Amino acid sequence: MPEQRVAIVTGAGSGIGRSCALDLAGRGFAVVVSDVDTDGGEESVKLIEKEGGTASFRRADCSSPEESEALVSFATDTYGRLDAAVNNAGIGGEAATTGEYPIDSWKKVIDVNLSGVFYGMRYQIPAMIDGGGGRIVNMASILGSVGFATACAYVSAKHGVVGLTKTAAQEYASAGILVNAVGPGFIETPLLENADLDDATRGMLVQLHPIGRLGQPQEVAALVGWLCDESPDFLTGDYLPIDGGYLTR
Ligand code: NAD
Repeated sequence: MPEQRVAIVTGAGSGIGRSCALDLAGRGFAVVVSDVDTDGGEESVKLIEKEGGTASFRRADCSSPEESEALVSFATDTYGRLDAAVNNAGIGGEAATTGEYPIDSWKKVIDVNLSGVFYGMRYQIPAMIDGGGGRIVNMASILGSVGFATACAYVSAKHGVVGLTKTAAQEYASAGILVNAVGPGFIETPLLENADLDDATRGMLVQLHPIGRLGQPQEVAALVGWLCDESPDFLTGDYLPIDGGYLTR
């Protein structure tokens, strides 16, 4: 029997990350669920086990290089290999225009949303090289390719994630490591709920998606799972929006 494939998902205690972890477990991966939220992460493991899947929780702050390295070691020590990684953990940051943007929020968003993806790949890639290849999916956003007023830090971090993805894909294509970025439109998750939008703002956001609704985390997870599992080897270094038509405007 072939060895079970192994995936890491960061920010897997909630929203899109939890859905990605469930999707990957459904595809037969043993999933290392990682998050700073222990309760959320453990709940994701329970949900996977209830479906008959294999998962373990490991707490790691993606903005820490040491914890990102320890997370990869946990995966390889526990399951013997690393085949896929979804660098999904992210935060929204404060809403303010650039001339007034709080410096501490800028630093925090860049640390988590951009440096966190770099630290992830920094340690995932050597483990994948040891195993003969792998697949990495980085969570960008539609805001990885267009601007959004009051979100300078988030927009900058997500554009950075797209650049990082392209660079790593170029560097490691010959090592059999595929690296892609996914760009969701606005998705119904706690991140959006925490933004505490009034009905008018929510309505305006829906209007920005020609499909006439916001997205569901499972829809993003279906794309991420496909990229980790069965997309063609020729698909690498790409930025794949999943946005109900948002970027057609
Ligand atoms: P969410 O808030 O539901 O989940 C994010 C998870 O990341 C949480 O469990 C949180 O605890 C965890 N996290 C936060 N900081 C962390 C850190 N430093 N280290 C490890 N884990 C950390 O949000 P979501 O909507 O599921 O977002 C997931 C990803 O998708 C983010 O990168 C986000 O930017 C991106 N995204 C979301 C939307 C959307 O509309 N919801 C759209 C495009 C992109």
